[in-house]
Amino acid sequence: MTPVIGFIGLGHMGGPMAANLVKAGHRVIGYDLVAGALADATATGVEAVGSAAEAAAGADVVITMLPAGRHLLALYQDQGVLSAARPDTLFIDCSTIDVADARAAHEAVVAAGHRALDAPVSGGVMGAEAATLTFMAGGGEREFAQAEPVLSAMGKKAVHCGPAGAGQAAKICNNMILGISMIAVSEAFVLGESLGLSHQALFEVASTASGQCWALSVNCPVPGPVPGSPANRDYRPGFAAPLMAKDLGLAANAIRAGGVDAPLGLNAAALYEAFARDAGADEDFSGIVRAIRERTARPADQNGTPV
Ligand code: NAD
Repeated sequence: MTPVIGFIGLGHMGGPMAANLVKAGHRVIGYDLVAGALADATATGVEAVGSAAEAAAGADVVITMLPAGRHLLALYQDQGVLSAARPDTLFIDCSTIDVADARAAHEAVVAAGHRALDAPVSGGVMGAEAATLTFMAGGGEREFAQAEPVLSAMGKKAVHCGPAGAGQAAKICNNMILGISMIAVSEAFVLGESLGLSHQALFEVASTASGQCWALSVNCPVPGPVPGSPANRDYRPGFAAPLMAKDLGLAANAIRAGGVDAPLGLNAAALYEAFARDAGADEDFSGIVRAIRERTARPADQNGTPV
């Protein structure tokens, strides 16, 4: 029988994900703190209820899509969600959260007599709308097998990465690669500018040589070489800089907690944190090239550091 889904958190991502579950034939019982988000979801066929506990009661699978780990832990601890659900309900958290929070959430779910899977996503709002998300899952084999048909209604791929927290671990490691590589590509373009090298020439060489990466060949941070990249529409997202800053912050927490020697990851987190607070607040993460260029143009102090 098609499982009934409780869906908590119907924002930019959760709204279209829930809509795709309805399209795939699921009964979806939804809840969001924001009345507007709940009303939008109702228009797509989601049944709105007045509390998270009501969304969980009577569901076979409960999906959460919340801003951060503290929201998920508060939901599980304070709002009667775990006690309202039938025994052995599968709780799938698709939010991007701290690995430690994901593990604590798993423990809370299991202690309440249920089962848990962390399944953060990549693909952004467009992927959520088009049901082409990639899910990175952490939890048991049985939980993953039960979740797979549900996830396939919202995405094109689901990878079982390992036990509790492994999905979040994969997500932050991948996004750390992306953040560092976008900074590397942006610094290379600005260095090329200072050496009189055209964007097109650098792109043609690096995109077919050992400098090739997604940040260059798909999301190229300068306008021109890749017509579809956000640089060609004044850096409108795309993947917004504050979300990159959030993911790199989670990576930095894990780097510090594990005593990992990852100075580039820590530096990338600091650079994106500053960019997202300032000019990048509403920009695609590739807009960091402009911040690098702007700092480059400033006069340098006696050590060569821009002031
Ligand atoms: P969002 O802020 O648009 O949506 C989150 C929703 O959760 C909001 O509508 C909020 O009202 C609701 N909410 C918060 N606490 C709640 C509670 N206790 N009960 C019910 N509802 C509650 O955020 P989003 O862009 O949809 O992102 C959700 C998650 O997905 C985040 O963890 C984000 O990092 C991750 N993510 C986002 C993107 C993206 O492109 N937006 C891409 C990949 C991953």
